[in-house]
Amino acid sequence: MGEQQQDLIHKLCKAFTSQNQCEWINQSDDPNYTQTTFANAPNFIGIIRPKKREFIAKALTFANQNNFHILPVSSNKNWGYGCLAKNAPTLPMVVLDLSNLKGIYPTDKELGLITLEPGVTQEELRTYLDDNQWDCMVPVTGAGPTASVVSNAVERGYGITPHTDHFSACTAMKVFVPAPDMCNEELSSAVSELDNSGIDFIDKSFKWGMGPFIDGLFTQSNLGIVSEMTFRLAKNPSHFSAFYIQIFDPSKFEDSVLFIRKILQTYAGSIGSINLMDRARLLSMTVDNPNIDKDENVFLSNEQLLRLANENQTPEWLIVGSIYGEKAFVSAIKNHINKASKHLGKTLYSDGFVLKAAKFVLNLPFTHFPLMNAVRAKLHKLDQGVDIMLGRPNQVALPLAYWRNRASQPSNENKLHPAHDKCGLLWYAPLIRMNPEVLTEFVLFVRLTMRKFDFDPFITFTNLRHDCIDSTVPIVFNLANEKETQRAKQCLSALIEQGRDKGFVPYRLPTEEQHKLSKNTPYWKCVNKIKQSLDPNGILSPGRYHERLK
Ligand SMILES: Cc1cc2nc3c(=O)[nH]c(=O)nc-3n(C[C@H](O)[C@H](O)[C@H](O)COP(=O)(O)OP(=O)(O)OC[C@H]3O[C@@H](n4cnc5c(N)ncnc54)[C@H](O)[C@@H]3O)c2cc1C
Repeated sequence: MGEQQQDLIHKLCKAFTSQNQCEWINQSDDPNYTQTTFANAPNFIGIIRPKKREFIAKALTFANQNNFHILPVSSNKNWGYGCLAKNAPTLPMVVLDLSNLKGIYPTDKELGLITLEPGVTQEELRTYLDDNQWDCMVPVTGAGPTASVVSNAVERGYGITPHTDHFSACTAMKVFVPAPDMCNEELSSAVSELDNSGIDFIDKSFKWGMGPFIDGLFTQSNLGIVSEMTFRLAKNPSHFSAFYIQIFDPSKFEDSVLFIRKILQTYAGSIGSINLMDRARLLSMTVDNPNIDKDENVFLSNEQLLRLANENQTPEWLIVGSIYGEKAFVSAIKNHINKASKHLGKTLYSDGFVLKAAKFVLNLPFTHFPLMNAVRAKLHKLDQGVDIMLGRPNQVALPLAYWRNRASQPSNENKLHPAHDKCGLLWYAPLIRMNPEVLTEFVLFVRLTMRKFDFDPFITFTNLRHDCIDSTVPIVFNLANEKETQRAKQCLSALIEQGRDKGFVPYRLPTEEQHKLSKNTPYWKCVNKIKQSLDPNGILSPGRYHERLK
């Protein structure tokens, strides 16, 4: 470490620890920050952890004056995408960890409007809502209880409660921008500035404000640090049912797509998102990986898929959806679904007789033998899936990240942390036109490409709307194996590059892919002009969804 950097560290220590409002951790090898699921965290010289949001302003001012980069994180759990960008930074880097900013401000309990600071996790929000008798759901994701609500919206992530798109559910935000002449002031909307009532309710309930809408600039970007967000929470439904349609005949795939499209078009608002998962993805949730100890031919062969599917009665495709509303309304939609899905396969409902009876039988004391335990475990997973749909966070999705992890396997007792546990994971998350033939082409493309690189193709379609689908395809690999890790990165690049030619365009990218796509195009030139104006010293998150043009 150079003399200049040591001097900087000394200054930072003094500036940030002299006041009891902020921690400075002079430690660049803390695994909380250096370990990612694809091992590309940048080198940084330390971590600032403010206890009050005003310190964001101080950190930005200090960075402008002393020439260092700031990398903000909220819960630092962007598993599969990477939390900290890495793009040949020119200056020393400091992580600004916002996880101690835990403010929860009830904007309006009756209306379900709540304002959160970046450190509030899904679990903490759940506890707050329960303790204070809010009749509302947490906007949960598969990342689970320990992930921040704000940073997921900053990433424009989504879940499967009725308010699926989390940035859409954000009605207002406050931000610190890095411009030296502005970084001392917290920025809010024009409506907030105009409102003299002192209550600031209109800003927090009306997303679009007045004048140019700039909130979006601070999502998937490096233009500012979000210090609070207000969310419109979905109300707990008076009645709810999850539905599961098992499709055993592979030729029914396109009919399944048409079914989903129709249901979403007809019942938008009453049906959350609908997930469509393939057999391999379903098996990854229910069986141990038989190839975990192999270094080659690591994906499930056709024979293995067939055997495991037979043993576990796993369908080719599974549709999972959720219906929210009054009891009579939910029953009416169920009737419609029964009729419309008859040709696809068997439909089960979480509030239906079959699942209730199965749970009752399995809870009887004389049913505790191994086969029953396996069924019981599956039903437990179904229950956890239902909890997610009802806005109650849990870890049900996380074991996926451990599919190729020989050293560590998930256990229910522990808080799962795929990065700490050295899991290898990258997400390919493209948007696809909601059209049966196009989706068939997508499935073939992903299966062929991933097997070419020797990885299991696990396919999930999350149908947020009737016209455009998001597919989240995990590339799960053995992070301890350098060659396999490199192959995973090549596989991701191939999926992204070749997919673009077919019209499959990612909505979000892992850090190493982010700067590759930014070219000298009108869009990125415009982003660059905004960046130059808001961050003339280039201190904030170099490389995050942005490349400084030469
Ligand atoms: C099995 C599994 C399932 C998953 N399921 C989902 C899912 O259902 N939906 C989903 O969306 N994702 C999912 N993820 C991906 C990811 O884990 C989540 O999106 C997670 O919420 C993002 O991490 P974070 O919230 O801790 O953000 P952080 O890591 O804290 O931040 C993410 C990025 O946002 C920037 N950022 C953070 N806070 C701020 C701020 N206050 N101001 C400005 N910039 C900021 C950071 O610079 C960083 O680059 C899943 C991951 C796994 C492993």
